Amino acid sequence: MGIDRLQEEYAEFKEKRDWEKFHEPKNIAMSISIEASELMEHFQWKDNVPVKKIKQDEELMAGVREELADVILYSLSMAQRLDIDIEEAVLEKLDENRERFDEETAEEITEGLEEWRS
Ligand SMILES: [Mg+2]
Repeated sequence: MGIDRLQEEYAEFKEKRDWEKFHEPKNIAMSISIEASELMEHFQWKDNVPVKKIKQDEELMAGVREELADVILYSLSMAQRLDIDIEEAVLEKLDENRERFDEETAEEITEGLEEWRS
Protein backbone atom coordinates (compact mmCIF):
# COMPACT_ATOMS: atom_id res chain seq x y z
CA MET A 1 0.00 0.00 0.00
CA GLY A 2 1.38 3.38 -0.97
CA ILE A 3 1.28 6.76 0.72
CA ASP A 4 -1.51 8.01 -1.57
CA ARG A 5 -3.74 5.16 -0.52
CA LEU A 6 -3.06 5.78 3.17
CA GLN A 7 -3.86 9.48 2.73
CA GLU A 8 -7.06 8.63 0.86
CA GLU A 9 -8.20 6.22 3.56
CA TYR A 10 -7.45 8.71 6.33
CA ALA A 11 -9.17 11.54 4.43
CA GLU A 12 -12.25 9.34 4.06
CA PHE A 13 -12.16 8.50 7.78
CA LYS A 14 -12.05 12.22 8.71
CA GLU A 15 -14.67 13.21 6.13
CA LYS A 16 -17.21 10.65 7.35
CA ARG A 17 -16.90 12.04 10.88
CA ASP A 18 -16.72 15.68 9.78
CA TRP A 19 -13.36 16.00 11.52
CA GLU A 20 -11.40 17.53 8.68
CA LYS A 21 -12.32 20.99 10.02
CA PHE A 22 -10.36 20.24 13.19
CA HIS A 23 -7.26 19.20 11.27
CA GLU A 24 -5.72 22.65 11.17
CA PRO A 25 -1.91 22.73 11.02
CA LYS A 26 -1.52 23.86 14.65
CA ASN A 27 -3.76 21.05 15.90
CA ILE A 28 -2.04 18.48 13.72
CA ALA A 29 1.43 19.61 14.85
CA MET A 30 0.34 19.28 18.47
CA SER A 31 -1.16 15.87 17.75
CA ILE A 32 2.08 14.63 16.15
CA SER A 33 3.97 15.72 19.25
CA ILE A 34 1.42 14.15 21.60
CA GLU A 35 1.49 10.84 19.74
CA ALA A 36 5.31 10.91 19.67
CA SER A 37 5.18 11.37 23.45
CA GLU A 38 2.82 8.42 23.74
CA LEU A 39 5.38 6.41 21.77
CA MET A 40 8.12 7.49 24.19
CA GLU A 41 5.92 6.63 27.14
CA HIS A 42 6.31 2.94 26.27
CA PHE A 43 10.03 3.26 26.97
CA GLN A 44 9.82 5.63 29.93
CA TRP A 45 11.54 4.26 33.04
CA LYS A 46 13.02 1.35 31.16
CA ASP A 47 16.72 1.01 30.51
CA ASN A 48 17.96 0.99 26.94
CA VAL A 49 16.04 -2.15 26.03
CA PRO A 50 17.60 -4.24 23.27
CA VAL A 51 15.54 -4.64 20.09
CA LYS A 52 15.36 -8.42 20.59
CA LYS A 53 13.77 -7.98 24.01
CA ILE A 54 11.29 -5.39 22.72
CA LYS A 55 10.24 -7.72 19.91
CA GLN A 56 9.65 -10.52 22.42
CA ASP A 57 7.25 -8.37 24.42
CA GLU A 58 3.90 -8.58 22.64
CA GLU A 59 2.26 -5.88 24.73
CA LEU A 60 5.12 -3.42 24.25
CA MET A 61 5.27 -4.15 20.53
CA ALA A 62 1.51 -3.60 20.18
CA GLY A 63 1.77 -0.25 21.97
CA VAL A 64 4.74 0.92 19.93
CA ARG A 65 3.04 -0.16 16.70
CA GLU A 66 -0.12 1.74 17.59
CA GLU A 67 1.61 4.99 18.54
CA LEU A 68 3.89 4.84 15.51
CA ALA A 69 0.79 4.54 13.33
CA ASP A 70 -0.75 7.56 15.09
CA VAL A 71 2.37 9.66 14.41
CA ILE A 72 2.29 8.64 10.76
CA LEU A 73 -1.44 9.29 10.37
CA TYR A 74 -1.14 12.83 11.71
CA SER A 75 1.98 13.38 9.60
CA LEU A 76 0.08 12.29 6.51
CA SER A 77 -2.76 14.60 7.50
CA MET A 78 -0.38 17.57 7.81
CA ALA A 79 1.16 16.81 4.44
CA GLN A 80 -2.25 16.53 2.83
CA ARG A 81 -3.57 19.71 4.46
CA LEU A 82 -0.58 21.76 3.28
CA ASP A 83 -0.22 20.08 -0.12
CA ILE A 84 3.18 18.70 0.77
CA ASP A 85 4.28 15.78 -1.36
CA ILE A 86 5.46 13.68 1.57
CA GLU A 87 7.37 11.21 -0.57
CA GLU A 88 9.27 14.03 -2.26
CA ALA A 89 9.85 15.80 1.08
CA VAL A 90 11.27 12.66 2.68
CA LEU A 91 13.56 11.96 -0.26
CA GLU A 92 14.78 15.59 -0.22
CA LYS A 93 15.46 15.34 3.49
CA LEU A 94 17.41 12.13 2.96
CA ASP A 95 19.51 13.90 0.32
CA GLU A 96 20.12 16.78 2.75
CA ASN A 97 21.17 14.31 5.44
CA ARG A 98 23.54 12.53 3.05
CA GLU A 99 25.27 15.87 2.40
CA ARG A 100 25.16 17.03 6.02
CA PHE A 101 26.52 13.77 7.37
CA ASP A 102 29.23 12.96 4.87
CA GLU A 103 31.49 10.00 5.66
CA GLU A 104 34.02 12.07 7.61
CA THR A 105 31.37 13.87 9.69
CA ALA A 106 29.51 10.61 10.29
CA GLU A 107 32.70 8.94 11.48
CA GLU A 108 33.35 11.74 13.99
CA ILE A 109 29.80 11.56 15.29
CA THR A 110 29.99 7.77 15.55
CA GLU A 111 33.23 7.95 17.53
CA GLY A 112 31.64 10.40 19.95
CA LEU A 113 28.56 8.25 20.36
CA GLU A 114 30.50 5.01 20.78
CA GLU A 115 32.04 6.42 23.96
CA TRP A 116 28.59 6.45 25.54
CA ARG A 117 27.58 2.92 24.58
CA SER A 118 27.73 0.32 27.30
MG1 LIG B 1 -1.97 7.38 20.46
